[in-house]
Parts: sequence; structure tokens; C-alpha cells
Amino acid sequence: MKRYRIATIPGDGIGQEVIPAGATVLRALAKSMGSFEFEFENFEWSGDYYRAHGVMMPEDGLDRLRDKDAILFGSAGDPHIPDHITLWGLRLKICQGFDQYANVRPTRILAGIDAPLKRSAAKDLDWVIVRENSEGEYSGVGGRVHKGHAIEVATDVSMMTRIGVERIMRYAFRLAQSRPRKRLTVITKSNAQRHAMVMWDEIAVEISKEFPDVHWDKELVDAATARMVNRPATLDTIVATNLHADILSDLAAALAGSLGIAPTGNIDPERRFPSMFEPIHGSAFDIMGKGLANPTGTFWSSVMMLDHLGEPLAAARLMSAIETMTGNRALHTRDLGGTATTAQVTDAICNSLNESF
Ligand code: NAD
Ligand code: MN
Repeated sequence: MKRYRIATIPGDGIGQEVIPAGATVLRALAKSMGSFEFEFENFEWSGDYYRAHGVMMPEDGLDRLRDKDAILFGSAGDPHIPDHITLWGLRLKICQGFDQYANVRPTRILAGIDAPLKRSAAKDLDWVIVRENSEGEYSGVGGRVHKGHAIEVATDVSMMTRIGVERIMRYAFRLAQSRPRKRLTVITKSNAQRHAMVMWDEIAVEISKEFPDVHWDKELVDAATARMVNRPATLDTIVATNLHADILSDLAAALAGSLGIAPTGNIDPERRFPSMFEPIHGSAFDIMGKGLANPTGTFWSSVMMLDHLGEPLAAARLMSAIETMTGNRALHTRDLGGTATTAQVTDAICNSLNESF
């Protein structure tokens, strides 16, 4: 029997609730499929780990993940530790250490979900946002000198390389080509940023020639926010820089109903390293430890993980169990206006996976 080695890293806050729920559902799924199994190894790298050891993960952390088939990640963020420490010390260390350069975020309005865009039907919103995940505004290049003095200077340099832009454009065009509408929108800001974003645009034109069957267009990032709200059906696959896509994908998650539902994958398309799948929400300090966390984002991220592992049937089966669950209002958590708990939603999915075989 095929055996997938999965690292789970719950991290902080509700990550500690949704990741165990995800592992439970994946175990139930594997059991009902009968053709593969999971071997989970859990890593307690988090704010608590930082308080005990002064680092978010051990020095050999990446080596301990290297031979896994995939990573399921919760959230890094602790009320008492600055966010740049938790983020750079764990999540970005893994994304960059394993060169997971494509961050992929599907967005749809799932069955039974009330979304804020009343004017448009659920079918109008079916997007995948591809976020450049290795450079750009989050490259970490910059510095700060003369701290506290009047002459203090601080810079964050947005760095774009030809190789980095080419590979993310190629990934996005290929993904657009694989979807029924074969439509790609390239997000830019080359009216105001005259160097890197101009190269970004030029490379989009170059790569587009490899994909003559993909219809593509260009949109400035500010205009793109309005287009997402006013004309959602004109978008399908979207590619944007690290920062632009970070912001657009939170908007996308909100337009689809709740931050608690949205999934993402940090992908190494060349499969040199394990890819990492995670709900897009954070630690949600306001609801942690109360059983109120919506685990759907983790379940949908698990669907992406199954697709990546080459288990499309299992992925489709879990996705359909998720939509059966969201279609039942009695199983909505508080963020969706319901009263169901994390455990109730998890049990319901496991039961439906057992039944439908
Ligand atoms: P957040 O996503 O944690 O919470 C925003 C709001 O959405 C909160 O009201 C929260 O209760 C609600 N929410 C989020 N996920 C939910 C779920 N699954 N079910 C129900 N409600 C949910 O964002 P934030 O408050 O900006 O950040 C909190 C901490 O998390 C910060 O330290 C931040 O840095 C961190 N964070 C980490 C990641 C990550 O690790 N990928 C992502 C975002 C934020
Ligand atoms: Mn974000």
C-alpha cells in the first residue's frame, strides 16, 4: 500500500485546533479509500517553542522535513511575540528554504455559503490566485540604520529577478491553460513602479508566446480590487507579486464568504522539496481554545495536498464531502453565522466519508 509521509506543524492559536482536525479527516479518508495511508509526524514549532528555545524551529528543522511528501501547516503568530519573528522564523523559513515559489490560492463560493457579493451568483466567482512566493516585496532585502535618531533610515527593497518572474509566469500560464476557461490576468503596477514592474510586464509578454491558447490581460492592482467586486466573472486565473497577491487573496477569501474557508498551497513545482499546504487564516487569538475555529480551510488545503500527491480521486471525494457539509447550515461554525463547533464539523466529514463507500 502506498504510504505518504506528512509533517504536521500546527503552530499557534487555532492552528492547534484545525491541524489535528485535518489529520483526523485525512486518516478517515485514507481508510475509506483503502489504496493509500498516511504516516504523520507532528512538529510542535510555535510561539511556545520560541519561549523555551529562543528560536521558532531548531537549526536542523528543514532537514527533518526534507524527506516528507508534504507539509500541513496551521498558523504562526503569538500575541506576545512580534509577528515578523514568528513569520520569518518558521513559515517563511520553510517557504524559502524549500523554494516553494508558487503560492496557489483557489477561491470559490462553496455550496451553502452566504457571500457578501449579493449581485453576482456563486458561479461568477471561480478564481485561482498565483502568488509569487520567493522574492518581490518580501525578499528580506533592506535595512535600518541610525535607530531612534532623526536621521533614521529604513528600507525594504522589492527585488525581482528574471528567473523568478519567468518561472512564476510560466507556472501561472500553465495553470490557466489547464482550467476550462484558459484565462489569465496579470496584475501589475508598472504605471507607478518603473523598474521591476516594467520587467514583470515584459516577461509576461514573452512567456505568453509559449501559451498561444491562453487569453490573457493585464490589470493594475488597484483597479483589480474593484474588478474583483464589480465584475468577478471576468477573472479566472490571476498572477501577482508577493505583496499584491497577499492583499488580493484576503479580499478574495472575504468575497467567498469567510477567511475560515480559504486554502493555499506553497508549491515547489519542480518537486525538489516537500510542498506546504495551509489555511490562509492566522492564529485567530480572539477565538482560540474555544472550539469555534472553522476547520474548512484546513480541509480544503488537504484537498490541494492530495492533488499534489497525485491522488485526484481522493481529492475529489474530500472536496465533495466538504461541500455536502457546507451545504448543511446546521454544520456552519460561528464565522459563517452558525453554532457548530470544530469537532462537530470534523465528525460530520468523517462520518460522510465512511458512509459514501
Ligand atoms: P486571523 O486570520 O488570525 O484572524 C482574523 C479574523 O478572522 C479573526 O476575527 C478570527 O477570529 C477570524 N478567523 C480566522 N480564521 C478563522 C477560522 N478558521 N474560523 C473562524 N474564524 C476565523 O488574522 P489576524 O488577526 O490578522 O492575525 C492573528 C495572528 O496570526 C497574527 O500574529 C498574524 O501574524 C498571524 N497570521 C499568521 C498567518 C500564517 O501563519 N500563515 C496568516 C495570517 C496571520
Ligand atoms: Mn496574508
